[in-house]
Amino acid sequence: MSLIKTEGYVLKNIEFRETSRIITLFSRDYGVVSIMIKGIGKNNTFSPEIFDTYSKSSFVLYTPHSGEMYKHKESSLIIPGISLSKNIVTFFRVSFIFEIVLKVLPKHVPSNDIYRIVDNVLFKLFNHANNDKNILYIYYFILNLLNILGYDINTKQCIKCKTPLKSNAFFSSKDGGFFCSNCFNDNDFINTENNVITTLDKIKIGNLKSINYNTFKSERKRIKNILISSLIYHLGVDIEKYIEYI
Ligand SMILES: [Zn+2]
Repeated sequence: MSLIKTEGYVLKNIEFRETSRIITLFSRDYGVVSIMIKGIGKNNTFSPEIFDTYSKSSFVLYTPHSGEMYKHKESSLIIPGISLSKNIVTFFRVSFIFEIVLKVLPKHVPSNDIYRIVDNVLFKLFNHANNDKNILYIYYFILNLLNILGYDINTKQCIKCKTPLKSNAFFSSKDGGFFCSNCFNDNDFINTENNVITTLDKIKIGNLKSINYNTFKSERKRIKNILISSLIYHLGVDIEKYIEYI
């Protein structure tokens, strides 16, 4: 067994016998891992808040001797988690992010890229928990996750003839992008105007301050439709439970 240091977000915690817990952590350096925490109630080398769902803490851990369970040496809380009572909508938005992380990242597969995006987005969500505009960070997460996983939505040009997207365009999740009006030839498309595409582009690069929120609101349904259909098509995620919150 050797010692490692990392930080991460608690996704689940379950009681194990009387004085132990097992937590599932999305860690910066080791991906999703399980950690055994023993001796609760004795000489604790942690603050109890590290069990709170979605809290962020730093950890010193023993690597697994056999099997896949890390053992807890010490930890300290960085940011408290968010509870359902603080803001139901934001709580479900945070849950949505981690549901997808658990779905796309097998255990013990590190992904610094995904961790960085999640870490950025959660920082914003925790700081703007009571502002419904925080939905923009969720959409930023979806677009960048798709990009990292190789399903980037091209917001610049027609995916067939490569001409720049200027006016109406037609989104197809199975083709992973927009067709111009000359190239679309099917019925299975989401018809969009240019302001939808420019808004998507701004969200993708994180230029959220430049977004006119009223334009966003009037086009939100179509933007959501594009993002959700892409998530479902490429990642096969079941997000029924979250749909009304995103
Ligand atoms: Zn075209």
